[in-house]
Amino acid sequence: MSLTHHQIVIIGAGTGGVTVAAQLKLKDKHLDIALIDPADTHYYQAAWTLVGAGTFDFNKTARPMASVIPKGVHWIKEAVSSLDPDKNFIQLASGDQVEYDYLIVSPGVIYDYDQVEGLRETMNKNNVCSNYVDSKYTWEVLQKFKGGNAVFTQAATPIKCGGAPQKIMYLAADYFRKHGLSDKANITFPMPGSVIFGVPEFAKTLMKVVDRYGIELRFFHKLTKIDAEKRQVHFKITAETSMIAGCFYALNPAIKDLDPSETDVILEFDMLHLAPPQTAPRFIQESKLAYADGPNKGWVNVNINTLQHNQYSNVFGLGDVAALPTAKTGAAVRKQAPVVVENLLHVMHQEAELNPGYHGYSSCPLVTGYGKMVLAEFKYDNVRDSDKMISTFVDTTQESYSMWLLKKYGLPFMYWNLMLRGKA
Ligand SMILES: Cc1cc2nc3c(=O)[nH]c(=O)nc-3n(C[C@H](O)[C@H](O)[C@H](O)COP(=O)(O)OP(=O)(O)OC[C@H]3O[C@@H](n4cnc5c(N)ncnc54)[C@H](O)[C@@H]3O)c2cc1C
Repeated sequence: MSLTHHQIVIIGAGTGGVTVAAQLKLKDKHLDIALIDPADTHYYQAAWTLVGAGTFDFNKTARPMASVIPKGVHWIKEAVSSLDPDKNFIQLASGDQVEYDYLIVSPGVIYDYDQVEGLRETMNKNNVCSNYVDSKYTWEVLQKFKGGNAVFTQAATPIKCGGAPQKIMYLAADYFRKHGLSDKANITFPMPGSVIFGVPEFAKTLMKVVDRYGIELRFFHKLTKIDAEKRQVHFKITAETSMIAGCFYALNPAIKDLDPSETDVILEFDMLHLAPPQTAPRFIQESKLAYADGPNKGWVNVNINTLQHNQYSNVFGLGDVAALPTAKTGAAVRKQAPVVVENLLHVMHQEAELNPGYHGYSSCPLVTGYGKMVLAEFKYDNVRDSDKMISTFVDTTQESYSMWLLKKYGLPFMYWNLMLRGKA
């Protein structure tokens, strides 16, 4: 067992951890920074949507972790098992211990399969697939599908990239169309929310996409159980009885609305794609860094503009683990990282004023078919926040081929070559 000390410790060498470490080193190469992460591989998860639709090579989404750790940053290849912010102390799973002066947490989310009965047993089998878990299997399932019920859904917990469950649905619908299966496929999207997308400008376009593919949309559906043997998926209706009529949207008049007495719905599936339930990692949930109760219970308690912890001034949080009222995406991390870096340096130099510079920016590249994409950019309160330069050339509320090219080629290039190197 050993005890080491570092000036700055970052937990998680994913999108947030590596970006912040790289930016800090660019600001001051003498900083003593340690990144803690047990993973061998760093993934560009955003491209898994395209892998699931057979239009991106999975191998290009993965790089050895060692190759993305910024030069001069000490990599501790271990998992954190607990931490005590009162003592600036981190316990590692191996028994080793680490002390810090300043801490940045960005360990992402974990998948909590047990929140849905039967999910653990059937995930990645029996045509139950998820781009979150194994996008290569999604592609296998898609190619095997010869007609029947294709159900797409998402857990009722917060999830990373909230648009991902519907992006693969649109791609699947387009795939069925290309292969002459449109008439044989019933595509259903039961979701826990009450709208297809929170920002009205983009929702309007997405509803047209839903109509184009003849998708049956269902709102207020909480995923509760998967019965792989019977090929059935169960949902609980969370709407008040008076709202039941609003639970359902389909242009096809042959599809019947829900019976108001129904509180549980069972759908048959031939293929099922889902986003699994997600929570903060256990060591975060059990630490004093997390909200102990309330709607943000378990997520890291940071100021939503400065990203400084609300109780521990030497701690910052960013990425999926942070309790921020915006979408959990890598694009959000890109705008959070410079704010964390600037404010951490302020704290280190004992400057009182922090920059409240993060306004909830997030972005969702909503792929709506092969060669089509809507670039949804927004900030807190679901206010549209489209990039001014891009908007000069493209109406990003509409589907476009240029945005598809950005998703398929531009963003992966930017991620590996600029963002992870602290330059974007
Ligand atoms: C299918 C899918 C599609 C997506 N599409 C998009 C998209 O189009 N655009 C977009 O911007 N974003 C997208 N995202 C979301 C994006 O990938 C995440 O929001 C982003 O990676 C969050 O960064 P992070 O640093 O918070 O977490 P991550 O990048 O997930 O990194 C977390 C790191 O913490 C490490 N860790 C976990 N537990 C511990 C521990 N106990 N000790 C030490 N280390 C630990 C992990 O090993 C991991 O390396 C998508 C994600 C998925 C799954």
